Amino acid sequence: MTMIKGGCQCGAVRYEITAEPMVALHCECLDCKKSSGSGHITAGAFPEAAVHIAGTLKTYASPADSGAMTTRGFCPECGGRISFQSSGIPGMLAITAGSMDDPGAISPSIAVYHKRHVAWDHFDPALPVAEAAPQRG
Ligand SMILES: [Zn+2]
Ligand SMILES: [Zn+2]
Repeated sequence: MTMIKGGCQCGAVRYEITAEPMVALHCECLDCKKSSGSGHITAGAFPEAAVHIAGTLKTYASPADSGAMTTRGFCPECGGRISFQSSGIPGMLAITAGSMDDPGAISPSIAVYHKRHVAWDHFDPALPVAEAAPQRG
């Protein structure tokens, strides 16, 4: 049963997700700022096997603070950010909320890397925060 559908801006990459997110979060790390062009990226983490991607993502891998490699996936045509994965969390594939056809399909429950918070980037003040990563990776 498909629970969430989405894709990039140009439509070259589409996906369907057949699970609820294990967690949804805002990530305020510097790499998410660079890759999103904004103060944070919002994503849901899913079991990799529940995410069915049509089209081919281009990926870029870089080391996180933890030393784990983070691989970010984006559309090679329009550059839309779709996914990320951490070598420290095998079997997890995170999908960006903004790429979902209904970006409100997931509800972030925490903001991580809050030590990189930018003053103009407001969240719900009741949202729990973590200064860095919530777990290894
Ligand atoms: Zn695209
Ligand atoms: Zn991040």
